[in-house]
Amino acid sequence: MDPRLIPMTLPESTNASPQHWDLVIVGAGPAGSAAALGALTEAPDLRVLLLDRSDFPRDKVCGDGIATHALAELAEIGVHGIDDGWPPVRRLELALGGTSVSSDRHRLGWVIPRSVFDARLVDRATAAGAVLRRHRVVDVALSDSAVSIDDIAFADVVIGADGPYSILRVAAGLPPTGRRALALRGYVPTPAQWEGAQVIRFGERRQPSYAWAFDRGDGICNVGYGEVLGMERQPPTRSLLLAELEDLLPGATTGGDAWKAHQLPLSGWRWDQPDGNILLAGDASGLVNPMTGEGIYYAVATGLRAGRAAASAIRAGDPRSAGRTYRHSVRRLLANHLRHTSIAARLARVPWVVRAGIRAASRDDRVFNDLVELGLGRGLITPRLAGGLLPRLTSP
Ligand SMILES: Cc1cc2nc3c(=O)[nH]c(=O)nc-3n(C[C@H](O)[C@H](O)[C@H](O)COP(=O)(O)OP(=O)(O)OC[C@H]3O[C@@H](n4cnc5c(N)ncnc54)[C@H](O)[C@@H]3O)c2cc1C
Repeated sequence: MDPRLIPMTLPESTNASPQHWDLVIVGAGPAGSAAALGALTEAPDLRVLLLDRSDFPRDKVCGDGIATHALAELAEIGVHGIDDGWPPVRRLELALGGTSVSSDRHRLGWVIPRSVFDARLVDRATAAGAVLRRHRVVDVALSDSAVSIDDIAFADVVIGADGPYSILRVAAGLPPTGRRALALRGYVPTPAQWEGAQVIRFGERRQPSYAWAFDRGDGICNVGYGEVLGMERQPPTRSLLLAELEDLLPGATTGGDAWKAHQLPLSGWRWDQPDGNILLAGDASGLVNPMTGEGIYYAVATGLRAGRAAASAIRAGDPRSAGRTYRHSVRRLLANHLRHTSIAARLARVPWVVRAGIRAASRDDRVFNDLVELGLGRGLITPRLAGGLLPRLTSP
């Protein structure tokens, strides 16, 4: 654990009469902390309550891969140093069967345990003025002018950053998120062949699926395997997930611990956010890249925008305009990208296509970086990427 992180046992909410806040944020993961930071950057005097059911630091089942795009979003509002002490990882290897590419991407990545990354973000949010409380939200009620959270708080605007099983999503009137994946993660001592790299090996038997080995740079490697649910087959068991991981990355389960599985709500063609004063960010809004499982960049990017939209609507005396403002800002940022990843994820169900993409990337570094941008940032299927893919699709 990061020695500078002091475990925080949060004050629990009490039964006193509900308090009024300008903004309540449910969930203090990357989306929730970013929302608090976005709001307090826009309006430093705002009264912001950040609720989470857990004390921090807390573990979160994840590959711990942090795309540079997430840190760049934070840097734009003056938040630096979240990666302090964790070396960047430049090398990325993609493989399917005997076809592989291993190259240095032009934008760095990091592998930082979520117990560190999330706690650092929470620290920044509270330093900016957010009040953090431990509370598991069970009931959300809407009235004309405010949203009330259980019997502890009511607010002009509420941001739901409460992950893939979001209660706020239901309160906002949105259907459950669409397609999901299930992934299992563990930690192993880093074997020599994965040092300084992030390795992704796509499955052939249970498509779409992949196994990963992400070296943290401190002698420990985050390893895991995930697959899309549905696909006309039984949901995978824990032993199947472990067996697939070992099959794709031999040795990946040796000496491993902290095995845990969790669902990922994959993004689709369209992203929605209703009008009104309940905003959804990160996993709660169904934003995980369907090709790679990347969700932290989306969580930070949407959290920041939700916070800003909430703050400006409250300041303008029209909290219910927050939903519309936020919807427009996220669509401006991500709408095209989400359509392109939706197409790419459909194509990637066919092993041929994945193989063709890897071959094209191995021939041209620019295609490699286009693929990385599509999978880890907000890139598009560029003409270069499509052009690299087509000839190989027609002659497998
Ligand atoms: C196995 C796995 C591997 C992954 N690997 C990567 C990766 O390498 N890189 C990447 O970018 N993404 C990865 N992801 C996706 C990433 O973990 C999520 O997209 C990201 O955590 C979303 O952040 P968030 O803030 O929206 O939600 P979360 O991080 O889930 O935070 C939600 C918070 O809400 C709190 N909460 C939930 N319900 C309540 C409630 N009722 N009341 C109060 N608090 C509540 C929770 O305690 C939690 O702290 C992976 C996911 C999985 C499952």
